[in-house]
Amino acid sequence: MERGNNTKCLHLENDEDCNHYGAISYPIYQTATYAHPCVGQSTGYDYSRLQNPTREHLEKYVAQLEGGKEAFALATGMAAITLLFEIFNPGDHIIAEADLYGGSIRLFDNVSRKNGYDFTFLNCAGEDIEKYIKENTKAIYLETPTNPMMNVSDIVAVAKIAKKHNLILIVDNTFLSPYFQNPLKLGADVVIHSGTKFLGGHNDTLAGFIVSDNEAVIEKLRFLIKTTGAGLAPFDSWLMLRGIKTLGVRMERAEKNALEIAKWLKKQKHVTKVYYPGLPEHPGYEVMKNQAKGFGSMITFNMDSDANALKILKEVKLIKFAESLGGVETLITYPTTQTHADVPEEIRLKNGITGSTLRLSTGIEDVDDLIAEFEEVFAQLQ
Ligand SMILES: *Cc1c(COP(=O)(O)O)cnc(C)c1O
Repeated sequence: MERGNNTKCLHLENDEDCNHYGAISYPIYQTATYAHPCVGQSTGYDYSRLQNPTREHLEKYVAQLEGGKEAFALATGMAAITLLFEIFNPGDHIIAEADLYGGSIRLFDNVSRKNGYDFTFLNCAGEDIEKYIKENTKAIYLETPTNPMMNVSDIVAVAKIAKKHNLILIVDNTFLSPYFQNPLKLGADVVIHSGTKFLGGHNDTLAGFIVSDNEAVIEKLRFLIKTTGAGLAPFDSWLMLRGIKTLGVRMERAEKNALEIAKWLKKQKHVTKVYYPGLPEHPGYEVMKNQAKGFGSMITFNMDSDANALKILKEVKLIKFAESLGGVETLITYPTTQTHADVPEEIRLKNGITGSTLRLSTGIEDVDDLIAEFEEVFAQLQ
């Protein structure tokens, strides 16, 4: 019987590395290098850029949770995406979701293009991806649900297209975490996470992950992490390990809060649109019900004016006006000037991000307190 995801957050199925005096909390191996017994022999660890026991232990957990063969822990989510894109060559073409995390668009437009990669940005949830595949297309890059507009792509359907054309399907799974969605099991080749978000879960550590079951990709990544050197530090690896222990209970609780808040927002006269895939009227509801175990805790909503959106950001106290998401504290974000500031305005507007768009990452507070704060703030809107 396959173990459940909560158990997978706490125990490794195949834990051969158990010689640590029975320590329940895995030790932090705060060392840069390792002594060799003699020439030609190694303890298995030579230098912490290549590998470190604490980082390796964390990678085993993330691989186990995603159902991948191997995971790589990097310094940030962007470091993970940057490293992954080193597997491509100048002249390669990549089809990417148009409504991506702003940092990913910034990376692709400013760094990847400079390295000779060509991109086509598509609304992958709504367009015929196959029409845009060219001779030099090598990969499809998805987020589902997307950041911030919560568009849902059918991973199984896109994976079929990728397989047919021999493309690598990459899914940034940050918004749902491996607790709610496992793209590799749905046919994806590579999964990306910003560990900074749900996996860490406490708004205190930056981290990123690449998970894959594609041997060719894994081999390239093993060489690249050693060569480029953005592997996650031992102490940050330990913080991630600690965060992951409670991933399941945090995800469930935050999702419950999100559904209640989404329903409350829908009733407000100043709110013109609520994007939450857990609402049955969301166009991605059915697909998500099939491919994920939960709908997550990210809500995007539009206000009836920019002024009212700005007023909310100014007045919230318990809910923090901050970038980022996926932590135990509820955060509200203004994509236009924060996460998506570097996305050209015309693309932002095309994706549906306007000056009245707000993004909420619900935390694990008592939902009545969150709604009480919103009630107080909404009473001041014009
Ligand atoms: C935050 C985020 C990233 C980048 O991760 P960092 O850890 O901030 O570098 C990538 N993708 C998504 C969907 C994100 O939300």
